[in-house]
Parts: sequence; structure tokens; C-alpha cells
Amino acid sequence: MTDPIMHTYGRLPVAFAKGEGCWLWDEDGQRYFDAISGVAVCNLGHAHPAVAKAVAEQAATLVHTSNLYRIPLQEQLAAELVRLAGMDRAFFCNSGAEANEAAIKLARLHGHRNGIHQPTIVVAQGAFHGRTMATLTATGNARVQQGFEPLVQGFIRVPYNDLETLERIAAADPNVVAVLVEPVQGEGGVRVPEPGYLGALRQLCNQMGWLMMVDEVQTGIGRTGRWFACQHEGVVPDVMTLAKGLGNGFPIGACLASGIAADVFTPGNHATTFGGSPLACSAALAVLRTIEHDQLTERAAHLGSRLLEGLVDRLGQTAGVETVRGHGLMVGIVLDRPCGELVGRALKRGLLLNVTAERVVRLLPPLVMSDAEADFLADQVASLLHDFLTEKEAA
Ligand SMILES: *Cc1c(COP(=O)(O)O)cnc(C)c1O
Repeated sequence: MTDPIMHTYGRLPVAFAKGEGCWLWDEDGQRYFDAISGVAVCNLGHAHPAVAKAVAEQAATLVHTSNLYRIPLQEQLAAELVRLAGMDRAFFCNSGAEANEAAIKLARLHGHRNGIHQPTIVVAQGAFHGRTMATLTATGNARVQQGFEPLVQGFIRVPYNDLETLERIAAADPNVVAVLVEPVQGEGGVRVPEPGYLGALRQLCNQMGWLMMVDEVQTGIGRTGRWFACQHEGVVPDVMTLAKGLGNGFPIGACLASGIAADVFTPGNHATTFGGSPLACSAALAVLRTIEHDQLTERAAHLGSRLLEGLVDRLGQTAGVETVRGHGLMVGIVLDRPCGELVGRALKRGLLLNVTAERVVRLLPPLVMSDAEADFLADQVASLLHDFLTEKEAA
């Protein structure tokens, strides 16, 4: 027993010592382009000066007091987020899974208050919502659930991007209280639904009195070219969950609610020791101010199209590449074969990327990339894939 870390990850053999913008340096001084941003977390790149300054100053002033007292920075952050989302209230926690737990509890309580004693939440195939018991149950991936049965009750699953099944459930199941979906499935393989899906879902939820709950943990905070991905369709959900990019690496999650959903929780229903501390909120406020000041949502939209077009130009006609798809700076390249080994091959070339759903190369680069860096990334990825696919053809 020489390894003191629990074996929850198969880690790559590299450790990073420092970062700046889109770049990381390992312990030997080797430089890497970070096209995954710590999985959609460091949207402002590494060591962003505004976030570093906010965290350092707040750490030297006041780190934590608990939610037993008013926290003015939390009030400010909540006001900013509900303004940006067009919603009403926020609950702060420390991760995406916790934000979704809050959403699930909120939906169940809402159901019970309305006389539904077996409240059911509709979730999608291919979804990812986290690794706690309720959120891994909501997740649509058998590998995440295997070995952790019995799962939590009260979820039913429908195909993603499919309204007909939902309409059938609407006609048949009186226990449904909410639908929980990602605007783009990230872990599920950068699956972008048909235009109109979220708008139609909003209408169905209105019709049925269901809460529309949108998991924007990966898509939110500017990544898709709007503050929140559901805004591309002019949709305001009843509940929205956030985490990843919100603190640019400082752990913070949020569950936003609007309308009736904003009044569901009352004192005693839900709580957190660490959530929404002055330190976490100072980091998130610096993130929001930087995105607004530097117009990074617009940059994400611009860079996303540039990267997508660059990849389509370079890979569109390549045998073995099925599709290149994306939404803003969430980009997936779907191959016709499993390609997990690309992560290690890319690392050797000084490029950090991710493979999800077995054969989808996923890129989630920082929103602070330059145009030249976006072109560099397209070149690097195209060259990596050309080599991988032609070697495999020859073999
Ligand atoms: C990463 C992710 C989560 C889980 O967030 P954690 O902070 O790891 O708990 C939930 N939903 C989506 C869509 C995610 O991408």
C-alpha cells in the first residue's frame, strides 16, 4: 500500500506546476495547450489576475462565517446571477452535483406541496448530472451507476432531444413534477439538440405545470456564447444549476430558481456549511465581472465558430471522422471508432484534450483564447487525428 490516493481516477502521468491563460507548464518546464480547461472550469484561463487578486484579498479579509449570518458578497453574487439569468433567487453550494441535489430536492418538495406524494423527475438518456446517489441515478450512463444499486427512486428516463416520448408521459403519468436536462450533453458526447427543443420543452412544462430544470453546470457562464445556453432559445427555466466555470477553479455551485420555484425552500429544508462563503463568492463575482467587462460571451461565440469552421475545413473530408459538432466553445469531433488513446497521444504533443462517450474528442478551451490560439488548436487537433486515423487505416 504505497499509494495513499483512492483509485477513483486513472490519471495521466503528468503534474502541472503553473499556468497562465490557455497554457500549463509541467514540473519539468514542458508547456501544454489546455483545450479542456480543467473540464470547463477555467473559462478565464489559468491564474487570471482579476480572480487571483479577488481571492487573495478576500482570503486576507474574511474566508468563512457560515450561513447562520448574512453574507453580503453572497447577496451581491445572487443579485448578479439572477439579473443575468432573468431569474429570482439563488442557493449556493460547492459543486455541480450539489447544485443538482438542491434542484432535485426542490422539485420533490414542490410536488409534495401540491399533493403529489411520489414525485417523479424526468431525465434523459446520455445525461450526466453528478456522482452523488441522486445525481448518479439521474445520470443516463449505466457505467456511472453500476455497483451502487439500489438507486434512488423517483426518476424516469426518456431519449434526449425527443419530445414525443415526453408528450406520451405527460398524458400517462400524473406523478411527474419536473424535467431535468442539459442544454447540450457534455459528458454524453457534446450532443447538441435540434433547434427548438428547449423552447418546446418550456411550453410542455408550462402546459403540464412541471418545473423545467436545466443543468447548465457545463454549458453555463458564457461557454456556449451566451451567459447560459438556454438563452439561445429565449428560454427562462424554473430551475438552473451552475458550477464548473462559476469560480474559475474556486469550488462553487449554484441552484437558481424563478417564479413559484423560487419560493419552495423555507428555513430548515436545505442547508450547507461551506456554500456561498465570502471567499467563494468573491471569486465568482470576479469571474462574472471579467466576462462582462471583456465581453467574453461574444468572444466565446466568435471563437466557437472559428474553431468549428477550422476543424471542419481540416477534418471534414477525413475518413474516420463522422462529424464535427458544437455550440460555442463546446466542440466534439465524432470518430467512427473508440479513441481514448488520443488523450495520451495529445499529451505527448503538449495538448490537453478529452475523449468522452468512447469516440468523441471533446474540446472545451478557455474563453480567453486569441484567434491565433484557436487556429493553432485546430491545426494541432487536425494533425493529431490525421496521424491517428491514417496509422489505424494502415494497420
Ligand atoms: C460536471 C457536471 C456535473 C457534476 O459537477 P461536479 O462539480 O463534478 O459535481 C453535473 N452536471 C453536468 C452537466 C456536468 O458537466
